[in-house]
Formats: sequence, C-alpha cells, structure tokens
Amino acid sequence: MNRKRIVWESILLGFPCVLLPVLLMGYLAWMLNLHSAQQRLESLAVVASGRASGTVNEAAGALKRIAGSHLVPCTPESIDEMRLLTINTFSVKSVGYVEEEVFACGSWGSMGQHVKPWREDFTTTDGVRVSIGVQPHIVHAKPMMALQYAAFNVLVDPEQFLQVPLEDNVHLAVGTAGGHLVSTSRPGVERFLSRVHTGSAKGLEEGYLYTLVHSGDWVAIAALSRQELLQGLIRMELLLLPIGGLIAGGLAVVLIRRTRQRLSPLAELRLAVRRRQFIVHYQPIMRLSDGRCIGAEALLRWRRRDGSLVSPDLFIPLAEKSGLILPITDQVFEQVMHDLGPLLVEDRSLHVSINLAAEDVSSGRFLSALERALDKSGVHPGQIWLEATERGFVAIESARAAMNRARALGYQAAIDDFGTGFSSLQHLQQLPLDILKIDKSFVDTLDPDTGAGSVTTHIIDMARSLGLQIVAEGIETQAQADYLRRQGVQFGQGWYFAKAMPAEAFKCFYQAHVPAVSPGEPISTAVV
Ligand code: C2E
Ligand code: MG
Ligand code: MG
Repeated sequence: MNRKRIVWESILLGFPCVLLPVLLMGYLAWMLNLHSAQQRLESLAVVASGRASGTVNEAAGALKRIAGSHLVPCTPESIDEMRLLTINTFSVKSVGYVEEEVFACGSWGSMGQHVKPWREDFTTTDGVRVSIGVQPHIVHAKPMMALQYAAFNVLVDPEQFLQVPLEDNVHLAVGTAGGHLVSTSRPGVERFLSRVHTGSAKGLEEGYLYTLVHSGDWVAIAALSRQELLQGLIRMELLLLPIGGLIAGGLAVVLIRRTRQRLSPLAELRLAVRRRQFIVHYQPIMRLSDGRCIGAEALLRWRRRDGSLVSPDLFIPLAEKSGLILPITDQVFEQVMHDLGPLLVEDRSLHVSINLAAEDVSSGRFLSALERALDKSGVHPGQIWLEATERGFVAIESARAAMNRARALGYQAAIDDFGTGFSSLQHLQQLPLDILKIDKSFVDTLDPDTGAGSVTTHIIDMARSLGLQIVAEGIETQAQADYLRRQGVQFGQGWYFAKAMPAEAFKCFYQAHVPAVSPGEPISTAVV
C-alpha cells in the first residue's frame, strides 16, 4: 500500500473517529436530558393528579356525611355542623343547602336567596355531581369547583390540586378525565388535555415536553417548554461534550500512532514480505583462469510498487533486527529455484551462492526451508553455496552445528566478506567451511598498476593452508583479476566481469561464458 493511500485512509477514518464520539455524546446528553425531564414531569403529574383525586374524595366524603345527617336542614344545629365541616375539612371552603333554586342556608348561615343552578360537568361514580369553574352563590369570589349531592353542595378551591413543590420552569395543569381544565399553574399547556382521549401519555409536541397522568376522574399534565428543555440540554452537553472530546482526542492519537506505524519502514517491510515484493538478481562468479562463468551469487532486491529497486544494504539490517529476515530468506530460496532451477539441472557444474543472515545460521532453520525449495527441482545440494558472514558465526556452537549439518547434506559452506570481522586463522580453523570469500575492501587495496597487496596475499595464504577454495569479491579492474589469479585465487566476482542482473540477463551472460572443461582443471566446487 503506498504512503499516499495510507494517509488518505487515515484522514477518511479520522473524520468519523473525531466526529462520532462528539455526536454520540451530544445524542446521549439529549436522551439523558429528555429522560430525566420526563421523569421529573411524571413524578409531578403523579403528585398533582393524586392530590386532585384525594382532595375531591375528601370533599365528597364530607358532603355525603352532611347529606346523610339526621339533623333537619337549616336548623341552627345543622348550620353549626356545616360550619364545623368547613373548619375540619381542609379541602372544603364552604357548604350550602339549595332547595328548589333557593339557597336556604350554608356555612355562612341562613340565607333564603334565589340562585341559578350551576351547570353540572359530570357525575362521579359514587353519584356526586361536579361543576367546574362555578361562581359561588353568596359571595363574589374566584371560580371554584362545586360538588353537589342531594340538596347539599360544597365548594373546593381547585388551586389546592397544584400545591405540589413546583419548579419555576414546570407548567402544571389538572383537568377532568373528560378533558375539562380545572386548574393550571400557568396557561399554555391545557391543550394537552385533549390527549386524554387520544391516549398518548407523553411526548414532545407543539413546543412542549409533556407528561399526562390519570388518577380516578382526574388528569394532571406536567410540561416543560422547548426553551426550558434546551437549557437543561445545554447543561448536560457541557457535562458530556468534554468527555466526547476526550474520547475523540484519544481515538485521534491512536489513529495517528497507527498511521505512523503503518508508514514506518518496518511496516512497509512487513507488507513487502506479505506481498512477496522481493526479487533476486544474479552476479556472475567467474573462474579466473579462463574467464568462464561457473556460478552466480543471488543478491536480493526489494521491488517497490512504483517499480523502484531498493538495495539490500538499506533493508537487510532492519529485516535482521525485526526477524523478518527468516521469511525473506525462504522467499529467496524459492525465487532462486524458480529462476535458475532448470539451468542448474541442465549444467551440473553450475552453482548458485545464497546469502544467509546471522539468525538463519544460528537457528539452523534455513535447512528445512532449503530442502522444501529444492524438493522436486532436481538441483543437487552441491550446486548450492551457502554464504555466511563472520557475524553468522558469533553464536559459534549453534552456527557450527547448522553448517555441519548443511555440509553433511552436500551443501557448500562459504564465509562471506572475510577479513571485515574478527576472524583469525585460529578462528577460521574451527569453522566448517569449503570456500572463503575475500571482501571487496581488500581487493580495493591492491595496487592499481601491479595489483599487489600484502594483506590480501596473507589472506590467500591462510585460506590455501586450510584447503579452502577462494572467491575474490568486488574485482573492478583487470590488474586486480590478474594479480589474484597469479596468487592462486580460483574465482572472482565484480563489476569487472558483470554487475548483478535479473535472471534472464544472467542466463544470456552464462550462455556467452559457458565453462569450457579442460582436463585436469576443476570446473567449480559444485558437487555433482
Ligand atoms: P555481499 O553478499 O558481500 O554481496 C556482494 C555485494 O557487493 C553486492 O551488493 C554486490 O552487488 C556488490 N558488488 C559486487 N561486485 C562489486 C564491485 O565490483 N564493486 C562494487 N562496488 N560492488 C560490488 P548488494 O547486492 O548491494 O548486496 C549487499 C549485501 O546485502 C550483500 O553483500 C549481502 O550481505 C546482503 N545481501 C544481498 N542479498 C542477500 C540475501 O538474499 N540475504 C541476505 N541475508 N543478505 C543479502
Ligand atoms: Mg555474499
Ligand atoms: Mg561479500
């Protein structure tokens, strides 16, 4: 995946990551605010409707008691009883006795005044006739609720229904189950009384959040206006939005970190391994005596999606550090067999040299991968040189064991970049080796005209005394090639002969430099 796409993906993912928590918290604040407001309204409406039915029940009870009294109406005893009832019954404001449209007497005393009968709004289940918003017969007072039973009536102040601990911003109204308004704390919400018939007990309509509660013949409505609801919402948002902001910030940090990781060289390399973006180039290895090609070193390249090739020096250290080198080595084995397998079968004198990382050697796991790659290819193990640098032998015991096993199976073991590490003759003696590769840095020190160089000569002598075959790396001039040949170095590789090239180019190069077998001369170290 290229970097641009990763960045775009992260930007696109970033939007929901940042927006969603904020939106969710906004929505949560709205829902919580709505829920808590509705609960508040419901509890107020329950209290108000309970108070309405309780007050009316109390007044109706008192009314029935006096109507059932055996005292003769309007006698001084009966009037006293009416007065007593007014005093003792909290909900009853006055008592009256009306016979044939004449207010005969009441808690005010004897009257005998002609009155207009009140309009009856409904009759309760126990036969009490209820009139709402009536003008008291005797005094000019505020509208009251009248309860009538037989010729007796009591007046009840409906404002008592609203005597609940009321917050300023809540509207409260009490009405009858038939939809008549009885009392309201503030006008505006009585229209919701019609909901009694439609059955919806709560909702957000016409600029109000309302809740409607029934209790017997009574209905209470508690409501909050939209503005008051929004104020509650703002308080809740102020509480929850910072949390949403924190979550969004956290997600953004995670996303940025993840993006940086994905853009990191290691993530790119990991993806390259998964996508098998590696190819192998081959640098010919030449026999110095006659300039014939006797093998090739497999050199890894990372081919990016844009087609550019990355040199192994740039990614092998990271691959070794991260452990990705192990699957990379496996891919090299497979690629080499795919590229050169048939040619190696055709020419048993040809070999291919494969680089192993220190971890490959110390773990010894390369052997099974190599075996799998060689399986059914027909290539002989002797046609495979395994190159390990001196670093590969740091874990000396395990490396030695692995290389011994490899040699026992027929592979050829080479020490690569010899001379750049800690190797001494004594150390070299202990390693299970067949080939020594002199590092380019020593070849570089050879005299440009004569090719002579004392350190290189010393290394050559050392290798010869150990019976190792020698490959000189990095030969760039004919003088170097000539000098090394004269010193008895059998093989060489370097730009003087050819640079590393793709498999097809190498095959052409090989055809042009096919080894000529001369009697008595070794063709290569390949074991057939
Ligand atoms: P190396 O194994 O010592 O390979 C020789 C390096 O020297 C190659 O570099 C080659 O292209 C370069 N070279 C050869 N002749 C000349 C010359 O005449 N002049 C100059 N200036 N350079 C020359 P390359 O291909 O960049 O590989 C660098 C190193 O990366 C290799 O050094 C090897 O240590 C490592 N490497 C390459 N392929 C693999 C692999 O498949 N696995 C592992 N573990 N390491 C690899
Ligand atoms: Mg090498
Ligand atoms: Mg080398």
